[in-house]
Amino acid sequence: MKKTSILLCLVMLLSLCGCGGTADKKTKEFFAMDTYMTLTAYGDNAEKALSEAQSEVERLDSLLNAEDKHSEIYRLNCEKKLTLSEETSQVLKKALDFSELTDGVFNPALHPLMKLWGFTTKDYTVPSAEEIKNTLKLCDVKNVALNGQNAVIKKDGTELDLGGIAKGYTSSRLIEILKKNGIESGLVNLGGNVQTLGKKPDGSDFTVAIESPEKDGGYLGMLKTSGKAVITSGGYERFFEKNGKTYHHIMNPETGYPAESGLASVTIVSKDGTLADALSTLLYVMGEKKAVEFWNQSSEDFDIILFTKDNKLIVSGGIADSFTSEYNIEVIKKD
Ligand code: ADP
Ligand code: MG
Repeated sequence: MKKTSILLCLVMLLSLCGCGGTADKKTKEFFAMDTYMTLTAYGDNAEKALSEAQSEVERLDSLLNAEDKHSEIYRLNCEKKLTLSEETSQVLKKALDFSELTDGVFNPALHPLMKLWGFTTKDYTVPSAEEIKNTLKLCDVKNVALNGQNAVIKKDGTELDLGGIAKGYTSSRLIEILKKNGIESGLVNLGGNVQTLGKKPDGSDFTVAIESPEKDGGYLGMLKTSGKAVITSGGYERFFEKNGKTYHHIMNPETGYPAESGLASVTIVSKDGTLADALSTLLYVMGEKKAVEFWNQSSEDFDIILFTKDNKLIVSGGIADSFTSEYNIEVIKKD
């Protein structure tokens, strides 16, 4: 059900061609975190940097993936009490902070709900209203206590799921690994979630294609960018169909059903990949009006691209000049 492999090729083609050909370009493609990943780096040390980056993906997956029986999050979900590594506790802290900031719109405790709908096993089902109501009682972040590295799940059945933030954290870490290896130019693409390092070797910006939520593929537009994460959430990324209705993997924690906010996709552009990932998920749940309000009032530095189900394209002022699309663009500025 994923169009990401096609998009990957497109992003790579667009972002990497015309680089002047002087720097040594290396690419690594693999499947991890349930998605196709392509990592690219330019420079003498590119090969080694990319190997280390791939290992980093595996390392982080084995900390954060709630479906991996050896991960810290899986163990915490089972054992209910665990001293986490410093890193896992920091990612969990961020997820809990986003939850607090948004009154639970971002909810890292909805693993029971993801399981109920079958998103964790791909054995999809539409639950009854009663099942959803009962499961929602378990998905309360107040049942999770984090004190430094000590995490406790206080209610039986409550489980964590960092799927809304883990890939953004991972892309930020990969950029750090590339930098540590002396790389000044590169791009990581984790299933359509992109983060760029520096500019292309010829000094120009990368061009990142933003995937179109329309069923026929294609793209929403092109963003010229450097040194930033470009992370998109949309109901078209992972979904199933039952009796002619589509159900996707971004949940409204208030209803327990896939979010129907009127938005088709949300893209966040920010230096901080973790922030971009969490925000793309939660602004999608909020819908256009609240998402624009959130962006307007936020003290964080990020730009947004919102695409509504009725094909309205809203782009924030900071990136309006770098974004091109066949749709009419409504540019928004902060009050
Ligand atoms: P993707 O991982 O496909 O790029 P997202 O970043 O939007 O897309 O993350 C979707 C994932 O986030 C879901 O698979 C689930 O694990 C988790 N999730 C779903 N709804 C929420 C929510 N309201 N708050 C936090 N995490 C969520
Ligand atoms: Mg996300």
